[in-house]
Amino acid sequence: MSADTAPAVAAPQLPPCDHTPRAYSGPTWEEALALRKRFLTPTHFHIYGEPMMLVEGHRQYVWDHEGRRYLDFYAGIVTASVGHSHPKVLAAVKDQLDLIQHVPTIYLHPAIGELGEAVAKRVPKEMGDVVTYFVNSGSEANDIALVASRVYTGNWTMLALRNAYHGAVGHTMGLTSPHVWKYNMPHQDGMIHVANPDPYRAIYPGTPEEIAACCVRDVEDVIKFSTSGDLAGIIIEPWTGVGGVTSGHPSYFKSVAEVVRRHGGLYISDEVQTAFGRTGEHYWGVQNFGVVPDIITTAKGLGCGTPIGAVVMKREIAQALATKIHFSTFGGNPVTCAQAKAVLEVMDEERMQENCHRLGGIFRKGLEELQRHHPIIGDIRGKGLMVGVELVKNRATKEPTKEGTGTVVEVVRDLGALIGRGGLYGNVLRLKPPMCVTEADVEFLLDCLDIAFGEAERRHGIAG
Ligand code: PMP
Repeated sequence: MSADTAPAVAAPQLPPCDHTPRAYSGPTWEEALALRKRFLTPTHFHIYGEPMMLVEGHRQYVWDHEGRRYLDFYAGIVTASVGHSHPKVLAAVKDQLDLIQHVPTIYLHPAIGELGEAVAKRVPKEMGDVVTYFVNSGSEANDIALVASRVYTGNWTMLALRNAYHGAVGHTMGLTSPHVWKYNMPHQDGMIHVANPDPYRAIYPGTPEEIAACCVRDVEDVIKFSTSGDLAGIIIEPWTGVGGVTSGHPSYFKSVAEVVRRHGGLYISDEVQTAFGRTGEHYWGVQNFGVVPDIITTAKGLGCGTPIGAVVMKREIAQALATKIHFSTFGGNPVTCAQAKAVLEVMDEERMQENCHRLGGIFRKGLEELQRHHPIIGDIRGKGLMVGVELVKNRATKEPTKEGTGTVVEVVRDLGALIGRGGLYGNVLRLKPPMCVTEADVEFLLDCLDIAFGEAERRHGIAG
């Protein structure tokens, strides 16, 4: 950070860490950037003005090529669930790599079944007899959930919420809602987006509960006026990820599930970001609303860095898929399965769900305290360690501040922490750290945010 942009306050101190990183000796930052520019598609983007190069990680911390340590409060986009390079996870992977790297599912190998069992044990028991299809990503998981719902119900129309992100491959690009993620081509056949119940930017006025009721009526209207009346289902993120941690009053989800089921559809909970206790009180996000889903999709934190996605479905739904040949070459690979199983075990052994609940409460209180003297904070939302902070130019008009958000993200990085941003206007901070962060980490981030909010307010003329 240059002297003229540095906030005039003492920099907060990163909590201590006993890991010593290796001296980095690979290609330089300039070389890495040049390679990327020359040989990779320009679809790859960076979130910092000057791209960061990360070369080592240990639990909730990462190091750049110059050996500087950062608190990773974005978990590599909500993926380093138990932290980077956890020793138990590494040991499981190394053990498997020493034996055999790849066994496709046309042969028997125990790892995939063991992971299936580990997932089934953690699924709400009200779902009954569930089975899992392991694939490679969240997009693939949602694509299969869509196909399975259509095949099982015999219906075509899938509902999703406005502001949802469910992936970027052919079908899921249709389920994803914000226009910035969609090319101008047909991708949304039989997919309709219904009103989002997020109280902060809802299209209906009222209390969160009233808004939820209006949004349920919107679903009923869409079914009556835009479909045959027959649904394949609805897919919902309990709290949006890419969309900026929006959600709705709990009453919304239960009512919508009833409406959709009345029309023959299934309820799919996209738990790519909200799974495994991140929201604190429950293992899966959807359990916060008392809804029993028919299908759960997940990915990201399940593998903690290895490419894996999972579609957990009631057995009879999976049975419908088995009427044709369906296959994934890498899905259920023994190395990824060994890694994911170790990840799930570490989460339990280290009581990470409890940690998310406890620290989520402390973090929320700290953010609310900051909101009292930082007019840039429009809305604080989320649950546990799935937190979003929406930044605005003016609290009354709710005009988003994209530039202010950029300043906050950069200043926080300069102070030693990585955070994410999202939402249609790029003005929501996404605060979703590895589930192993400590109270000292949370206090450190709050101190960083306090300085960064002040700096953004000063630079962009945001006053209460
Ligand atoms: N669903 C949600 C809720 C997500 O956040 C994402 C990824 N951001 C996906 C699906 C797609 O996952 P992937 O990038 O692994 O394809």
